[in-house]
Amino acid sequence: MSSNKDLETLGHYIGGRESFGVGIGIDSGETLDVYNPATGKVSKKLSCAGSAELEEAITTASIAFAAWRNTPPQKRAQVLFRFKQLLEANADDICAAITAEHGKVLDDARGELIRGIEVVEYACGISELLKGEHSKNAGPEIDSWSEFQALGIVAGITPFNFPAMVPMWMFPMAIACGNTFILKPSERDPSAALLLAKLFTEAGLPDGVFNVVHGDRRVVEMILDDPRIQAVSFVGSTPIAESIYQRASKSGKRVQALGGAKNHAVIMPDADLDNAVNALMGAAYGSCGERCMAISVAVCVGEETADKVVAELEKRVRALKVGPGTDIENDMGPLISADALARINDYLEQGLDQGADLIVDGRGLSVDGFEEGYFIGGCLFDEVTESMSIHSDEIFGPVLCVMRVKNIDQAMSIINRHEYGNGTCIFTRDGAAARYFSDHIQVGMVGVNVALPVPVASHSFGGWKRSLFGDLSIYGPDSIRFYTRRKTMTQKWPAHGDNERAWFSFPSS
Ligand code: NAD
Repeated sequence: MSSNKDLETLGHYIGGRESFGVGIGIDSGETLDVYNPATGKVSKKLSCAGSAELEEAITTASIAFAAWRNTPPQKRAQVLFRFKQLLEANADDICAAITAEHGKVLDDARGELIRGIEVVEYACGISELLKGEHSKNAGPEIDSWSEFQALGIVAGITPFNFPAMVPMWMFPMAIACGNTFILKPSERDPSAALLLAKLFTEAGLPDGVFNVVHGDRRVVEMILDDPRIQAVSFVGSTPIAESIYQRASKSGKRVQALGGAKNHAVIMPDADLDNAVNALMGAAYGSCGERCMAISVAVCVGEETADKVVAELEKRVRALKVGPGTDIENDMGPLISADALARINDYLEQGLDQGADLIVDGRGLSVDGFEEGYFIGGCLFDEVTESMSIHSDEIFGPVLCVMRVKNIDQAMSIINRHEYGNGTCIFTRDGAAARYFSDHIQVGMVGVNVALPVPVASHSFGGWKRSLFGDLSIYGPDSIRFYTRRKTMTQKWPAHGDNERAWFSFPSS
């Protein structure tokens, strides 16, 4: 709870307007603090939804669904086109809100917004994407077709690390398919979601089609248990993803729950090392390592490769510019919270205790004028082994671990044994090695000389193993299947005068 009464309070967004709740029901009227991670100060207060606010959102989404599901797809696409234009026109405000609450550098915020806009662009093709399947003469005088109907109200629950992009992985496609949507963004950086909601209304989206409710675990649990919500998309850490998958499935919902990651880059002896190290720097330290596709382990094949990579990384990690995200000269902003900083410091201790070699230690960094901010410099470990917690756990900070192996099979075994399977990549000039790696690696998204193989909007995003619970990946073609329900019709119009006799055997052609 904030003690400062002058701070702005952010409301929910329900029925096409900002709503501060009705102040009754479980936990209504409570607020949470939103911090600026660069200053370490509370910057805003956030209204917390209780059962009354969620009820309001579900009621309005349910009323809006009746008309929205019957709105022709090309009309829905026209709203999405205007939304895309407004996102571009208001990009500076959205990026400023992201940087103020998440901490990432403004250019990085722009990158996530652009990737979100790409999903909106894909959703603009909804008329084409929603076309059904048709078989004429599936049987004698029988035609058969499948169509894909909207589910109803669907919900999205999103993490702090991409406050604009990850919500846009979900709601543009869900809404394009004819559903109405309730978003529960991260309570740590909620402003971007509110801006998106306001712009969508300005683009002509009918009231109630897109709603935002704020809060923490308590409102999430109410969403999971409400039978009127048909499906849930979740992105966040693995323990929460797993529990969300179980609880929402139990209440009969369709669920996709994307979890955490530990992404390895394999550097082969024949790789272009300069390119590989450049790519590793961006992928490991961009956004302070707070990306689910961040590379957090560099597996070097051969001692000579490892020695060269570590020497080059050391120079560059020491040269990283760390400071507030508002200064685009900086490479890294602060971490999201004091807890995150404490957790990463703890992992660095564990790494040292377990015998890893801390080549660059980013702890204790103080940024002039931002002494209370949650800053840490880039960290680099060498001689990391499989059993160390800095290898087995997702650290989610600017910590790159180097492992040394003898050959590609050893590298692949380490990756395939890991509990996560989100992203990975290989740096090599050898096509056969790249092909072998891509074919046999147990990971959902694979890069060849590409460190962050985040699929473009026309492909779907999803990890394997404990990085995704559910059958379908997010955005792209899978999202059409996730946000619609197939209905298959079989139809016969016998010519006049054709009399059917009773058939007792199972119908076949
Ligand atoms: P988190 O799991 O703490 O929170 C995610 C969401 O769940 C938030 O909206 C939060 O309010 C809610 N939540 C938190 N605890 C809950 C509980 N006990 N019950 C119900 N809901 C709860 O994740 P985070 O710290 O915000 O984000 C970082 C994590 O997200 C990392 O593990 C990262 O790898 C993961 N992530 C994964 C992907 C992916 O595509 N696989 C993408 C982005 C982030």
